[in-house]
Amino acid sequence: MPPAVDNSCYVQFKNVKKSYDQRTLVVVDFTLDIAKGEFVTLLGPSGSGKTTCLMMLAGFEDVSSGEILVEGQPITHIAPYHRNIGMVFQHYALFPHMTVEENLAYPLKVRKLPDTEVKRRVADSLDLVELSNFGKRYPGHLSGGQRQRVALARSLIFEPSIVLMDEPLGALDKNLREQMQFEIKRLHEQLGFTAIYVTHDQTEALTMSDRIAVFDQGVVQQCASPDQLYERPSNAFVADFIGENNHLAGTVLQRNNDYTELQLSDGSRVKALTGDCPEAGAACVLAVRPENLFIASDKVALDNRINATFITQLYVGDFIRYFFQLEDKSEIMIKQLNDHQAPKLSAGAVTSLTWSVNDGLALNLSTT
Ligand code: ADP
Ligand code: MG
Repeated sequence: MPPAVDNSCYVQFKNVKKSYDQRTLVVVDFTLDIAKGEFVTLLGPSGSGKTTCLMMLAGFEDVSSGEILVEGQPITHIAPYHRNIGMVFQHYALFPHMTVEENLAYPLKVRKLPDTEVKRRVADSLDLVELSNFGKRYPGHLSGGQRQRVALARSLIFEPSIVLMDEPLGALDKNLREQMQFEIKRLHEQLGFTAIYVTHDQTEALTMSDRIAVFDQGVVQQCASPDQLYERPSNAFVADFIGENNHLAGTVLQRNNDYTELQLSDGSRVKALTGDCPEAGAACVLAVRPENLFIASDKVALDNRINATFITQLYVGDFIRYFFQLEDKSEIMIKQLNDHQAPKLSAGAVTSLTWSVNDGLALNLSTT
């Protein structure tokens, strides 16, 4: 009897390291288990090692040390072509001299599928990405979004169990990008492949992924579900990279596993959830999201309070950003829904801002 397949470890990166020049590591010590059918995103700034991780899984780059396994089997010695992995890149990489149908048929012909099967799959595949009337066109006569749908269809046509996507929507404008995000999610749910997606766009990562691995300088800073990453970032880099955060400098007064009391640099004392902050006496940073801060009033009074001077506001449409200065001259921004209750303040007005203990996070000063 074959060994039972552990679907929670369908793809495994085990202590993977990569150096291109035998000196600097661009992937430092990457360990990640990806479940069958999961949608995992590698998110991080440019140059943080995301593409390198995909290339090693696809077999286009060697690992310098460590191991990559699929279904429990090391794949290091398997040629890229035999890994049965679909790939989509930012620049579609369609063959310009072939029609859409010919582009789609190509991976099947390489795999020597019979003509009738090729025909059937090409038709199904065009249907899947809603391009049935475009089979005879050349890529040059398609819009950017249509070309990317063909690239997507081509990566799926040989029914790979793993699909790698490297910034596939990077070249598209915002509306089309959002439409394609939806499209990719639909295909993922319908076909059930394991998706490993690369982007530097945190909104895209949050909306599409089951889990996100946040990269910085070749190191995974945190790997968690979108809501965990947003609500409990494990360090200041993630707190800053995912969504928006105010960072207020302070010193730890007292810390336990759940809560930390700190003194901010304007002298005020506040309480926050304990993140990776250091022990009492050490410098730390308080992270509070702009949507969790409120202008204090008789009706709005939460546990923490700090004096602030209003500087200016920015009208965004569905919400308004208010900018304040604290007594130590540091700046803080709050975001309020534009719901007719949004307060009107004049420059120089002194007020206080308030927030809940559970909406602040005490963190170590960022090391990057
Ligand atoms: P990302 O996809 O996150 O932008 P990459 O994996 O492309 O990052 O790159 C990580 C680092 O490795 C960068 O510093 C980049 O310059 C370097 N790098 C990437 N590919 C090569 C290569 N083929 N040869 C040498 N250095 C490379
Ligand atoms: Mg890249």
